[in-house]
Amino acid sequence: MFKFTNNFNCCKAVHCKNFGVLNSKDYIHKSTKLGYLSIECKLCGSNPPWINNELVANIIKEKLDIHFSAKLNHCPKCSCYFFFDKNTSLHKYGFTSSGRQRKQCAQCGLVFTMANFKKTEKLKSVLSTIVSAQETRKAIKTTGLSPKSYYFYLQQLSLILANFSRLNEEKIIERKHLGLHSEGKVLSLIHKRGVYSLITTEINSGYVLLQSHNLTRTSLHAEDIYQTQNNTIVVDNNAESIEEMLINRYTQNMERKHFEQLLVGELKALAKCKLIYPDKLAYIHFQLLNAFTRKALKYDHFIEHESTLRAGALMASLKEIKKSNAAVYFFLPLSRAKENLNGKKIGWWNDRWYTNEFAAYCPITSIMKDNAAIPLKEANDINLFYSYLDTHINKGVNSFNVLNQLLEIQRVLFNYCELTAQQSRANRIGITDKTYTPESLLDEALQSINA
Ligand SMILES: [Zn+2]
Ligand SMILES: [Zn+2]
Repeated sequence: MFKFTNNFNCCKAVHCKNFGVLNSKDYIHKSTKLGYLSIECKLCGSNPPWINNELVANIIKEKLDIHFSAKLNHCPKCSCYFFFDKNTSLHKYGFTSSGRQRKQCAQCGLVFTMANFKKTEKLKSVLSTIVSAQETRKAIKTTGLSPKSYYFYLQQLSLILANFSRLNEEKIIERKHLGLHSEGKVLSLIHKRGVYSLITTEINSGYVLLQSHNLTRTSLHAEDIYQTQNNTIVVDNNAESIEEMLINRYTQNMERKHFEQLLVGELKALAKCKLIYPDKLAYIHFQLLNAFTRKALKYDHFIEHESTLRAGALMASLKEIKKSNAAVYFFLPLSRAKENLNGKKIGWWNDRWYTNEFAAYCPITSIMKDNAAIPLKEANDINLFYSYLDTHINKGVNSFNVLNQLLEIQRVLFNYCELTAQQSRANRIGITDKTYTPESLLDEALQSINA
C-alpha cells in the first residue's frame, strides 16, 4: 500500500533549506507568535499553520474508501484500492450453490464470489431518475421500488460506474507527462446544507479525476469542526489591469487570520456528519492525487490562485519537486489577456507572474525562464463540471452515502456522456473512441463486469 505523508508540520517555503524537512532544529513547534498555532521556521521566518496530522490521516482513510475502493472482482483482501494496490491474479474456484463463479486469489489464497448484476432494468430505472435530477421521494415513486430497494440499486449503480471508470483510468494514466488542474467550489444544497469541494481534472481533456469534499463521518475535536458564518473567498473586483487584480487578490489573502484560512460562509453538514475546514481538505485531496501522479514520469499541477491550496499541493509532490519531476503553479483563468506580465514580482511573497492568452500563472516551485512554454491551455472544465453538478444533483440529499454515490455517478456521466465539440472528455483523454448515453454506458459497464 502507498504511504501517504503523515507529518505536515514543516517549513513550506520552497526556497528555504528546511522546505519539507521534518523536525529541524530551526523549528519552534506550536508557536503562537502570529496569533494562530504555527510551526515557526527560524531559518526563513515563515509561520505555516499547525496541522493536526491525525485528522488528515483519518480522513484520507475515509476518502480512500469513498473514491478508490469500488473494485469489483478483485481480491477484497490484498487488492482493495484502485491505483494504490496492484491487481493480483485469480484462479477459478468452482461455483456457489446459486451458480455464481468463485475465484481464489493467487497471492493470499482468499476465495470469494464474483460480482454479477442481473437486475438491469431496476438499475436503469434508478439511473434515469438521476439523469433527470429527480427529488428523492419522486424518484422512488417513479421507479416503483421500495425506498430500501431504491437505495440498494443506487449504491450498486455507483459501484458499477465507479469500477468501470477507475479501471479505464488505470489503463491510461501511466504516461510520460501529466497535467493536472485543481480548483475549489462550494456546492450548495437545500436548508443551507452544502460542501466545499475540490475538483481535479486532467488539463488537456478536462476529464474529472477526483472530486472530494469537506464532509466527514470521522469523529472530530470541537475546534476542527467547521462552523462559521464568515466568508473569506477571494473575489475579483473590477480592476484596470491583471496586475491590479492580482494585487487585490493577495491583499484579500492578507486580511485573513492566516493565509490558509479560507472560510466559505455559512454551510451546514448533512445528517450524522460534520464539516471540516477547507484548508484541511486541501492536504487530504492533494495526497489522494498521488493515485494519478505516481504513475507519471513528470507532471505539472495548476492550482487555483488560493493560498489555502498551496501547502497541500506542495506537500503532496515534495519528493518529485525536489527531483524536478513535478512543478506546481498558481493559475488564474482570464477572459482575455490585457497585458503581458512576463515574470513580474507581485504580492507579499514576491511571486513571479506570467500570462498567456488563456490565463495568468505563477510557478511556485521552479524558476522559469522568460517565455518558457508551459502546457497550459484554456481550462474551463472545472467550472463546467461545477455548473453541471449544480443543475444535476438532487439538492435535497441529506445522507453521506447517498451524496457520495450521486457525486461519483455524476462524475462518470460528465466524463463519458457530456459532449463538447462532439467529443466526451473520456474520448479526449484517450479512454475510448465511443460516445455514450447514460444507458449505453451502464450497458457497457455491466457487460464488462458480467463477462
Ligand atoms: Zn523555512
Ligand atoms: Zn488476495
